[in-house]
Amino acid sequence: MAHDVPSIALNNGVEMPSIGLGVFQTAPDETRGAVAAALDTGYRHIDTAAAYGNEREVGEAVHASKGGRAAVFLETKIWISDYGFDETLHAFDKSAGKLGVDEIDLLILHQALPSDFDKTLGAYRALETLLKRGKVRAIGVSNFMTEHLTNLLDKAEVVPAVNQIELHPYFQQPEVQAFNAEHGIVTQAWSPIGGITFYREGEHTSTLEDATIVKIAESNSKSPAQVMLRWHLQEGRSVIPKSTKPRRIAENFDVFDFELTTDEVAAIDGLDTGKRGGPEPDAITLESFALEIPEA
Ligand code: NDP
Repeated sequence: MAHDVPSIALNNGVEMPSIGLGVFQTAPDETRGAVAAALDTGYRHIDTAAAYGNEREVGEAVHASKGGRAAVFLETKIWISDYGFDETLHAFDKSAGKLGVDEIDLLILHQALPSDFDKTLGAYRALETLLKRGKVRAIGVSNFMTEHLTNLLDKAEVVPAVNQIELHPYFQQPEVQAFNAEHGIVTQAWSPIGGITFYREGEHTSTLEDATIVKIAESNSKSPAQVMLRWHLQEGRSVIPKSTKPRRIAENFDVFDFELTTDEVAAIDGLDTGKRGGPEPDAITLESFALEIPEA
């Protein structure tokens, strides 16, 4: 049964549904189906990115849905190849054009570009300008570590509403979470059920099979994925689990009818290995991660 999704208030008062569907690595021809399944289930938030190559299909599914565009919180990301003030203003036009919308709910910078932080600042100034022009309802960042945030806040007029970072039981980044909290920035967990841990070759590190998580799942009659999502929500984080399978999309949304105990939450907190699954944010350069984002 569909029900209202609890929301998180951003630092400018905009309400963001606490759970959204992620579509990283969802092929364009699977994206419409995944987004439609999510919206049918009751999701009201989709997280895509210019770099995922599926904004057009996300937009099509949203427009075709029962509630239409107005019922959905759309989040997308500017890729580093489009950083710089003018480039990022144009990147908004590309993303909005593909999504088929005039306004984006949450527009974030996909990565810091430490090797050219001036370009990163130029891109962020463009986000601030889009916010002033009413083209976006909120702005934010992704994969920003504390030093990137410090350097950004030093120059920015608008505190980012969201910092989307790798965050699952095996990699929790407590220092980034604390910095975000101190500055009123919502922490949004990417790979919230540890997807990045499944893709590692040759290592048996899946969070889905973790003994502690499996035990907590059994005692709550829930799945390991549901336990991890509940853990994030109880700690105040936004989550954007990805699946292309309607059954899992529904499972990941069915997390509002149980509560983990303080001890269960603490046991999951204790699983942090400090080992990052994704790329090292300081290693992101235009050369190694160049990707041309097509026009709308
Ligand atoms: P997730 O933690 O969401 O895990 C996704 C993986 O788990 C997929 O392999 C999926 O497979 C599988 N899965 C989903 N639900 C279940 C379930 N209930 N039981 C078992 N397996 C399940 O990882 P992601 O890395 O995809 O991260 C989620 C989202 O975060 C992305 O889609 C993207 O929006 C964002 N992201 C952002 C990044 C950034 O740099 N800002 C980087 C990476 C992700 P299947 O599809 O076959 O169900």
